[in-house]
Amino acid sequence: MLLSILTGKIFVYLHPTLEAFFHKNCILCDATCTQDFCDACLQHLPGIPAHHCPICLSAFAFHPAQPHRSQVCGSCLATPPAYDATVAALTYTFPVDALIHALKYRAQLTIAPVLARLLIDKLRYLESVHKPDLIIPMPLHSRRLQERGFNQAVEIARCVARAMNIKMDLDSCKRVRNTPPQTELAWKLRQKNVRNAFNCTLDLSGRHVAIVDDVMTTGATLHALAQQLRIKGAAKISNWVIARVQFDSIQAIPDVNF
Ligand SMILES: [Zn+2]
Ligand SMILES: [Zn+2]
Repeated sequence: MLLSILTGKIFVYLHPTLEAFFHKNCILCDATCTQDFCDACLQHLPGIPAHHCPICLSAFAFHPAQPHRSQVCGSCLATPPAYDATVAALTYTFPVDALIHALKYRAQLTIAPVLARLLIDKLRYLESVHKPDLIIPMPLHSRRLQERGFNQAVEIARCVARAMNIKMDLDSCKRVRNTPPQTELAWKLRQKNVRNAFNCTLDLSGRHVAIVDDVMTTGATLHALAQQLRIKGAAKISNWVIARVQFDSIQAIPDVNF
């Protein structure tokens, strides 16, 4: 931050006309700043709970007898998902939900790189993250793609792939079933809803694949795609998402995962 402040001062002094180029407006509060968010808004973005499952990112309460910050949750132990790990930049709550909603439903595509930068920062910060061989954005069914005009997961994945110099595959994985919205479906019903929804034609033998998506709700859709990638030989599958829903009641979760 000091560097950017100093840099700003240097440019204000030497090149007043460039000041406007380096100054932005905070995407949330419109305050003048040099990055996507002003310091105050950045500090108040909802992060991931400190104690969480490294596979599915479910939060759990801290217990003194179990001081480790990351331990596999009971659900992932009992029924391991087809993916190995999940990284999310943020928790899906205000104002992150509003930003993602604006991206998806009001086609504000300039929000995609802003959200992607938060994910990239998180991926670079975490020592546990290993660079995958390939990024696959969560596919949209062709009919939904036609309605929306873009796939928000592709918009985000494009930024991540470019910044981290990772190959991205856009053509080999398709969503072959146009699944109905998952509103108010419990985990088992969500799983059934997306079963056989994907088809992948790429040989992924021994490869580490990162699936990029905007939101992870229960993980049922990511699980369904990961199952398909496993069939094609993927050795390791990581989910890289902008935001993870944390919920008390599965019945109360919003329909965000399509
Ligand atoms: Zn702000
Ligand atoms: Zn878990």
